[in-house]
Amino acid sequence: MIQLIRGFKDILPGEVELWQHIERTAVDLFTTFGYGEIRVPIMEKTELFARSIGEDTDIVEKEMYTFTDRGGDQLTLRPEATASIVRAYIQHKKYADDPVHKLFTIGPMFRRERPQKGRYRQFYQLDVEAFGIAAPYIDAQMIHMLHLLFERLGVSQTEAHINSLGCPECRPHFREALLQFLAGVEGRLCSDCLRRKDRNPLRVLDCKVPDCRDAVADAPAIIDYLCTDCQDHFKTVTQSLTRLKVPFFLDKRLVRGLDYYTRTTFEIQTTLLGAQSAVAGGGRYDGLVEALGGPPTPAIGFAVGFDRLVEVLAQSLTITAPSPVLYIAALGEEAKNVAFDCAIHLGQAGLRVEMEYGDKSLKAQMKRANRLGAAHVLILGESELATGNAVLRNMATKAQSDFPLDGLANALETMLRG
Ligand code: AMP
Repeated sequence: MIQLIRGFKDILPGEVELWQHIERTAVDLFTTFGYGEIRVPIMEKTELFARSIGEDTDIVEKEMYTFTDRGGDQLTLRPEATASIVRAYIQHKKYADDPVHKLFTIGPMFRRERPQKGRYRQFYQLDVEAFGIAAPYIDAQMIHMLHLLFERLGVSQTEAHINSLGCPECRPHFREALLQFLAGVEGRLCSDCLRRKDRNPLRVLDCKVPDCRDAVADAPAIIDYLCTDCQDHFKTVTQSLTRLKVPFFLDKRLVRGLDYYTRTTFEIQTTLLGAQSAVAGGGRYDGLVEALGGPPTPAIGFAVGFDRLVEVLAQSLTITAPSPVLYIAALGEEAKNVAFDCAIHLGQAGLRVEMEYGDKSLKAQMKRANRLGAAHVLILGESELATGNAVLRNMATKAQSDFPLDGLANALETMLRG
């Protein structure tokens, strides 16, 4: 039998309810804070990701699902959503009416990483982006909104790690200091880092290889090299978070794996997930819109790892689909006609009703009603048709009552609503 692709997964009924609950909570929250939904394609020209994420990142070098389509175009399944949203913002000239646009999207991302718990090749993200706001308040608002999302979902053991990555003004000084430091630990770096370090030394700080992590443990921290503007920006962010009572931790080692990040960068970590502790990450990317051909536009965003959030929540929360209020056990063709019309009427009225379409014994039908957790069962057999009364059984109390077939659907509707 053909199995699904490694690192991909099905989300089955029974699991999907938790996904729906998270999605509803998030959409409600994002909408309240003024973010509108955008839906972008899951496939883009490869060049978009190569240019925005950065040629020498793990994502672009090793993890993208890239192929040549039948027309010869180089296409890639999106590894993240920001690049597509920026493309859409520029392509549709959204900046022309008002540079400020606050957007969110929810959907699958694709990275060919080594599959393990919390790491998949198709995974889902809740992605939020704000364009056109340079002020640090939006940074604080986003981190606060993430905090609120976890709070509303009842996930308590989370911590915001924050750092600043500076700007084109202050980064060159840091770059120099870092290059000097890296020259001293070259012998301990992996081949990727050795190759990347001159072009993009920050990349080395983000390497996941344990030996590289050890080697850069004492590397200079970018936060100590910020220019006055970046310092002021970061100060307003941290002061705002303190006022909002959002717990955060200044993590000097936090650098994000994507090239376009500037200034505030953050990650939400949890102790509930083992090795893959990051449930969300994001930050400012003030240079990206311009780099992709738009006007200079400050921007900031984050992505929540949907799969990981589900894993955290599943430890404490079970959500099941609602059970039917009524199961109609019908015996014989004539009874089934009555049952079918009745089930359709009640469905139109917004009541969840199930019935048996095949030819099953009453016993088998009662068994199924029990398995589905139906609150009531309506029994419609030949004798009920003959007497003109169906029998309704309350499955909890076992009490039975007669319902005349004449006006059955309306009478049931009134009773089931009451
Ligand atoms: P990133 O786009 O790399 O900043 O990731 C943002 C969030 O997406 C992370 O904090 C994770 O929670 C989640 N994430 C990233 N990669 C994966 C993956 N391969 N499988 C599952 N979740 C992931």
